[in-house]
Amino acid sequence: MAVDLHTHSSASDGSDPPARLIRLAAEQGLSTIALTDHDNLDGITEARQAAHESGVGFIPGVELSLEWPKGGMHMVALWIEDRPGPLQDRLAGLRDSRNSRNTVIVQRLRTLGIDVTIEEVEAEAGEGTVGRPHIAAVMVAKGAVPDIQTAFNEYLAHGRPAYVDRVRLEPEEALQLVNASGGVSILAHPHTTGIDNRIEMADMLERLVAAGLTSIECHYGTYDAEGRSGMVALARRFGLIPSGGSDYHGTYKPETELGTGRVGLPVPESVLAELEASRT
Ligand code: AMP
Ligand code: ZN
Ligand code: FE
Ligand code: FE
Repeated sequence: MAVDLHTHSSASDGSDPPARLIRLAAEQGLSTIALTDHDNLDGITEARQAAHESGVGFIPGVELSLEWPKGGMHMVALWIEDRPGPLQDRLAGLRDSRNSRNTVIVQRLRTLGIDVTIEEVEAEAGEGTVGRPHIAAVMVAKGAVPDIQTAFNEYLAHGRPAYVDRVRLEPEEALQLVNASGGVSILAHPHTTGIDNRIEMADMLERLVAAGLTSIECHYGTYDAEGRSGMVALARRFGLIPSGGSDYHGTYKPETELGTGRVGLPVPESVLAELEASRT
């Protein structure tokens, strides 16, 4: 059986409510799923209940965006419960920064002649964390762009005219908070860090390992078999556990399927066994 250790629900920028995400996992035959919404733990109670009912294993988690000048560094933290704790307490501040950033993005878009309001974006997002995919979806609904990917490519991605930065945790601080909160840290989709050579990759991993990193995502939704085995070899060289997940977002990332990503993952169950063993 397979697992999926990186997924998003409507508590952040996924389209499926937590319970529906879990039912989908059961239909896909996954033995365990981790819920890893951006910056919040709001979907965990609903997901856990649904997992209990469907007989799917469940791991509470969160995805953090870290300070990394070269590109986007994200960290998935697993076994983070929705209760007070060092990381949990820090998440509220990150959400504030995210919200003020969304307001500025919308203002930029309006300056660029795109009629989008923050009210429309909030309505699109519902109750959870608001992210750029929600802004992109409103742009699509209004006919400003043909699809979400075009909204990113032309406006919202790093370096594009409506890109706005926000406060992020330093990698060392994030790792310290995750470890102090009883979680396990995974460097998510390493390719987005903008590192494209072995020397810089080694420097980055050495820095993160020294700061307490446990695992790196090797079985990712867009990595083919060759890419995955290369990443596993890299992980082993640095003493990191190879983790994996689809990064499923439902309709906000239409080509990525739960459990299988875009390229027919499965993430082996042995990955989860290794991560669990690292906790003791
Ligand atoms: P935010 O949390 O608001 O920074 O938005 C991050 C989300 O936007 C991630 O979940 C990605 O799925 C999506 N995203 C970020 N960059 C891109 C991109 N260049 N193209 C498509 N989606 C992206
Ligand atoms: Zn997302
Ligand atoms: Fe991510
Ligand atoms: Fe993600």
